Amino acid sequence: MSERVLPDFVARDVDLAKRTTLALPGRAALYAEVSSLEQLAMLAGDSLPRRFVVGAGSNLVLSGDFDGLLLHMAMRGRELLGDDADAWYVRAAAGENWHQLVLWTLAQGWPGLENLALIPGTVGAAPIQNIGAYGLEVAERLHAVEALDMSSGRTLRFDRAACRFAYRDSVFKQEGWHLDGRQVITRVVFRLPKAWQPLASYADVAAELERQPSELPPARPPAPPTPRRIADAVMAVRRRKLPDPATLPNAGSFFHNPVVSASVAQRLAIAHPEMPRYPQADGRVKLAAAWLIEGSGWKGRNLGRVGMYEQQALVLVNRGGACGAEVIALARAVQADVRQHFGVDLTPEPIFL
Ligand code: NAP
Repeated sequence: MSERVLPDFVARDVDLAKRTTLALPGRAALYAEVSSLEQLAMLAGDSLPRRFVVGAGSNLVLSGDFDGLLLHMAMRGRELLGDDADAWYVRAAAGENWHQLVLWTLAQGWPGLENLALIPGTVGAAPIQNIGAYGLEVAERLHAVEALDMSSGRTLRFDRAACRFAYRDSVFKQEGWHLDGRQVITRVVFRLPKAWQPLASYADVAAELERQPSELPPARPPAPPTPRRIADAVMAVRRRKLPDPATLPNAGSFFHNPVVSASVAQRLAIAHPEMPRYPQADGRVKLAAAWLIEGSGWKGRNLGRVGMYEQQALVLVNRGGACGAEVIALARAVQADVRQHFGVDLTPEPIFL
């Protein structure tokens, strides 16, 4: 361990179980709750032990104890930077709660993030895996990412192209980046277009909008969806299908939806005509991981103290008292069965520490 004197906001031997939504046991040798750029800069330089960055801990699997310095990004603040004829530009600090940012922008009259309502996690984590839901990825609303280089102490700025966004992926996921604590995302700037268009193509959202009472009297034609109505529909669907980590610990979707070649999709379509398939712009085909897991017999099934959730087979849940090794064992069992049944490989979505 370094001889360097640590600032007094760095704690030692901290229990992490309550700081991640899967509630797995583990301790951090050093733990810093970082509330300002100044505090983050105090932890820059190369003489510190291995670093790892977390936000809300909603996409993290703890395999055990962590012997380095865990940086919990708690920086707050959100503001309208300005607007032009086409868009509003909103900046938020990395530690802001994602869902609260969505609700705040809607309340201000700046729509555009409503399909991403209720996604757990922080603003700083959103660009890392390019969070997405119901036909929208955050990349489509992102203008720039600000970060601190922890070796040099320099401020970095990434425009949208430099983020190299892909399906649930970005440059920030690469080794040595944000999570390894060498460059840490500090603020994110969003671009919310004034020419708003509803995105209601996903069946669950469309059905929920149908169910919601119209804001207009029955004699009038159906009301077009507003940003707030879409947010309400998304929240209703998510609350119905996804377990609340406060009562049933989980890390959201546990596997990526696999994107396979057209020929693999064709082979699967012949064997399983009912299988949902979503053609992509590049000719490949996206499959629904939840469907594959259910088809392999894992929906609602447990392995020891962990299981695949009964309402949504893509969510791995901790039924109580499980450890990281049990999560890894279940993930491997599910992967093996999906491979055996369908010949498709599933890749885990959360980060393993
Ligand atoms: P769903 O609506 O049951 O659909 C299953 C999968 O099929 C989805 O993952 C989705 O892919 C794809 N899909 C469905 N309708 C589609 C359409 N009209 N066009 C293109 N692809 C379509 O999915 P769900 O599990 O309840 O999740 C709903 C949405 O929330 C999805 O977008 C999902 O990615 C997102 N979500 C993400 C997490 C997370 O932890 N990352 C957790 C829960 C939900 P896409 O994933 O590409 O949308």
